Amino acid sequence: MIELISESRCIKCNICVSVCPTNVFDAVTESLPIIARQSDCQTCFMCELYCPANALYVAPQVEPLSTVQEKELEEAGLLGSYRNSVGWGNKQTSVASRDETDKVLKQLKK
Ligand code: SF4
Ligand code: SF4
Repeated sequence: MIELISESRCIKCNICVSVCPTNVFDAVTESLPIIARQSDCQTCFMCELYCPANALYVAPQVEPLSTVQEKELEEAGLLGSYRNSVGWGNKQTSVASRDETDKVLKQLKK
């Protein structure tokens, strides 16, 4: 579930507002978005994937956490960690480009 928007990292691009399929965020003029409807979050990670500033934290738990501290997330390297793990971070190679399913399918067709 979406847990945090980092005020210090957010560049106010509102991409997260646009990509969220369940309209969890509200854009705020000249400020960072707010998590307006946390209970509507589907834990899909789309916002974290698209955030260019690694400013979001989506916890894998589907229920809200009682306490989430940005400092602890920073220290644990969790801000933007999902984006980085699938290769969507800056100058990274997407794991999709390493998908070799086509080779398996070709073998099966022989
Ligand atoms: S996508 Fe990231 S940087 Fe852009 S507004 Fe949302 S949290 Fe801020
Ligand atoms: S994890 Fe998915 S549903 Fe939840 S806030 Fe982000 S984009 Fe929206």
